[in-house]
Amino acid sequence: MVPADIRCLCLDVDGVLTDGRLFVDDDGRPLRAFDVQDGFALRWFQRSGGVVAIVTGKSSRGLVHRATELGIEHVVQGSEDKLRDLQRVLEATGIEPRQTAVLGDDLPDLPLLLSVGLPLAVANAVEEVRAAAQYVTIRTGGAGAVREVVELIMRASGRWEEVVEHYRRQGTDGRRDGGTEGRRVEGTEARREG
Ligand SMILES: [Mg+2]
Repeated sequence: MVPADIRCLCLDVDGVLTDGRLFVDDDGRPLRAFDVQDGFALRWFQRSGGVVAIVTGKSSRGLVHRATELGIEHVVQGSEDKLRDLQRVLEATGIEPRQTAVLGDDLPDLPLLLSVGLPLAVANAVEEVRAAAQYVTIRTGGAGAVREVVELIMRASGRWEEVVEHYRRQGTDGRRDGGTEGRRVEGTEARREG
């Protein structure tokens, strides 16, 4: 049973927001691929009042760009103690551990999973992390696992249905305005990820 009052979603990066693979360029810089459907859901989670925290042991400027694009304020890079860093975010935002979900894939995430209200693991997480999770996603990290948990959390309070309704209503309104046939619909091309 997913608690209806989850206010914070804490995410790892490698293996959760990405598939865990690093493309290393000739200068030794790693490149990561993020999932746009994950990004779309993270925007709506925040728009509905949720707080997203990213806590990772690694550091990269690419992550800062991605987090900025998604409006994520709480990003801890180079974390040596993920639990302590999450606790700082929770203290700063006044959110209780029981109101927090953590999605992880590997052992450094385990302390977090064991201390929050909604522990979650990606499908390809290591066995110990999956065993500690209340829910294991169907999708793997970097391929929609984050999208899946955001929907799971937001459906528990009816918030995801409101997002779907938002877009359905746009379609209905468009039809009422004379349909979209033969004319260009404003705002459909440029806005990525909502
Ligand atoms: Mg990881």
